[in-house]
Amino acid sequence: MLILKGNIISSPKFGELSIVEHGYLISDVEGKIIGVFSTLPKEYDGKEVKDYGDKLIMQSFSDMHLHAPQYPMLGMGMDLQLIDWLNTYTFPTEANFKDNDLARKIYHRLALELIKNGTTRVAMFSSLHKEATLILMDELEKAGVCGYVGKVNMDRNGGVDLEETTEESIKSTNEWLKECKFTHVKPIITPRFTPSCTNELMEELGKIAKEHDLPIQSHLSENTGEIAWVKELHPDCKEYWETYKKYNLWNDKTLMAHCVHSSLKERTAMKDAGVYVVHCAASNNNLISGVAPIKLMKKEGLRVVLGSDIAGGDQLSMFDVVASTIKASKNRDIMDKWESGFLSVEEAYYLGTSAANSFFNEKEGFAKGNKLHCLVLDDSDLVSVRPLSVKERFERSMYLREKDAIKAVISDGRIVYNI
Ligand SMILES: [Zn+2]
Repeated sequence: MLILKGNIISSPKFGELSIVEHGYLISDVEGKIIGVFSTLPKEYDGKEVKDYGDKLIMQSFSDMHLHAPQYPMLGMGMDLQLIDWLNTYTFPTEANFKDNDLARKIYHRLALELIKNGTTRVAMFSSLHKEATLILMDELEKAGVCGYVGKVNMDRNGGVDLEETTEESIKSTNEWLKECKFTHVKPIITPRFTPSCTNELMEELGKIAKEHDLPIQSHLSENTGEIAWVKELHPDCKEYWETYKKYNLWNDKTLMAHCVHSSLKERTAMKDAGVYVVHCAASNNNLISGVAPIKLMKKEGLRVVLGSDIAGGDQLSMFDVVASTIKASKNRDIMDKWESGFLSVEEAYYLGTSAANSFFNEKEGFAKGNKLHCLVLDDSDLVSVRPLSVKERFERSMYLREKDAIKAVISDGRIVYNI
């Protein structure tokens, strides 16, 4: 059980912020939230209170799209577009993860960095290597990161060093699923993207997802060259999304990264099926893919969450991802002749936190019964010419933080980081 005291900030609804100044956030012995209170309820008199003074206690982040084996190539190859970038930098880097010692070293570091930055839930791509994927899951579990990890499937167009045969891919996926025995980190079916998977493999992955009731993650309509390539590969499909739908890889537990160039028809298909759009603003900018119309997608009622998409994205911190999201939405507004509008800080923060809660079968914000996922932020080193409101401090924190500003991180009701 935890009783935290401080300025408590959460996002109960898209665009709304709940602030309880010098309030109490309480979780039970199972790590579930009991509630947020302005004064300590009588029954907790005499219990230990972790008093964080004037610091900000806010929902921690869910990074719903990132590639673990690309962590060592952060900030590299940023002058290339998607397909060239994959072939020149990404695939050769990922091929190294056949080495389990290397995987252990890099994934240990990545898991700690995620926690230090206040990311407590993820939906993550590993590489095609089964052993390295299990090592990644183990390191995340040990560090306190919750969520989903996928062994990547790719049986074509990966080059000599990063490709499985169809049989190997299916066999290794089934073995991996049997060996996944983690409490907080679960498997997710992960066809890399349509150009990486033969029809036979896609069909089999759809069956495996259904049989084991597993969620699915992949990429969709990121880059115009990619979309043209998918059309060539699937002349029977009018649009990219149909190549997933055709093989039962399209439902309300499906995460599709990017969707930068999705047509109205593709967006409607996502809305109708309950598919999540994972918006990766920094990556779409770095790889010159485009600017996804997120404001429009929200207006149309789509489910939108955020991803750092390292290493297409250049920052692991979801604070930076939220700031990138706001900036990208402003660029989109300019492109739309100031007619589409842009995301406010509250809206973008919601997308980086509460919007993903439904994927984990939870309600928005610090709702009663949710597992407690939060971080404690100290902004006292920053300067200002007047006293700032908690809301102003919250806004500033998305753009600006001193080193080690995050003082504590709680994941699934456990203190997993504390300095
Ligand atoms: Zn990606």
